[in-house]
Amino acid sequence: MNIHEYQAKQVLKAYGAPVAEGVAITSADQAEAAAKQLPGPLYVVKSQIHAGGRGKGKFKELGAEAKGGVRLAFSIEEAVAHAKEMLGNTLVTAQTGEAGKQVNRLYIEDGADIARELYCSLLVDRSVGQTAFVVSTEGGMDIEEVAHATPEKIHTIAINPETGVTAENIAAINAALELTGQAAEDGTSLFPILYKAFVEKDMDMLEINPLIVMENGHLRVLDAKVSFDGNALYRHEDIRALRDETEEDAKEIEASKWDLAYVALDGNIGCMVNGAGLAMATMDIIKLYGKEPANFCDVGGGAGKEKVAAAFKIITADPKVEGILVNIFGGIMKCDVIAEGVVAAVQEVGLKVPLVVRLEGTNVELGKKILNESGLAITAADDLDDAAQKIVAAVA
Ligand code: GDP
Ligand code: MG
Repeated sequence: MNIHEYQAKQVLKAYGAPVAEGVAITSADQAEAAAKQLPGPLYVVKSQIHAGGRGKGKFKELGAEAKGGVRLAFSIEEAVAHAKEMLGNTLVTAQTGEAGKQVNRLYIEDGADIARELYCSLLVDRSVGQTAFVVSTEGGMDIEEVAHATPEKIHTIAINPETGVTAENIAAINAALELTGQAAEDGTSLFPILYKAFVEKDMDMLEINPLIVMENGHLRVLDAKVSFDGNALYRHEDIRALRDETEEDAKEIEASKWDLAYVALDGNIGCMVNGAGLAMATMDIIKLYGKEPANFCDVGGGAGKEKVAAAFKIITADPKVEGILVNIFGGIMKCDVIAEGVVAAVQEVGLKVPLVVRLEGTNVELGKKILNESGLAITAADDLDDAAQKIVAAVA
């Protein structure tokens, strides 16, 4: 689960990390009062969307000369003018895709005088099985570009879970970021704080880009991007409350309500499968025959008819879907339950695209009988190969 920058900063602030004062607003009328709460004279007006690269982003509705999604303002009037221009418009960044994201919320922040922009993130480094800091002096810009062009400028410092962040770790991070004096002192308290927040809140990723050294020598968290481990959310009510469903794909929200694993992709064949391995194999074979999956929905093991029907409806709700492949190997999942779910969903929402069904395993004969007797235009397939060829031919 992702959260907004202003929420991430609240989480980090509660642990004692240095962040600027700021106020989140959802309408331009609130901009003046928000800015008045801040010391000034420099303000930053920041689009709150679940995507990075906002500073270099462009608003669809505004001309190419218009400023991006993170703007400096040198007076309250200017901050208000930016807010009016930005709110409600669609910001396109390197991470949003062409469609962009509508900016429904701004964060107005006390501006900082920046001496240096650094990069600091925390993630689970699977190669060492530990949480690791990934840091670089080259912050503020595209870190993937730095990693590609100058990988020696990126440093990884893994943390032993038994000791937590040691003095040695802190010295290594401070050295990698070339922090000295006041900034090194700030780092000494900040890095253990970040680690604590990461571990306690079950974060998947915590990215601060940039972490800045200010003109006054102090460190500040200038940007913060956090994602949480969905499997641990049940034990973090405070974090769950930060969820912004307007930022998420409506179909993914619906899928999560039914505890279905749904993933949207770019092609035009919708896939209903059971099990991650079968999902991968189904997508591979569709590609092998020259088409691309539009999505896949994994109904898992013990789904009932209602859950199967919900999955089918989620798949058909995607306008990109020009054909559907249901590929089920009934083990714990029974083929007749799948058939009943598919028939129930089609009866409710109709079937406007070709549907190929391949069933195998437990109660397969009963499942096929239900489909045959349903009177629906369903193409039966004998095996995975046959199924993939039939659906690819049907949408060609
Ligand atoms: P992103 O583009 O989505 O990563 O948004 P950031 O929060 O990282 O902001 C983009 C850039 O705006 C930063 O790299 C800074 O150069 C600039 N910026 C953001 N806040 C401030 C600030 O308080 N003062 C100054 N001078 N620049 C800022
Ligand atoms: Mg940033």
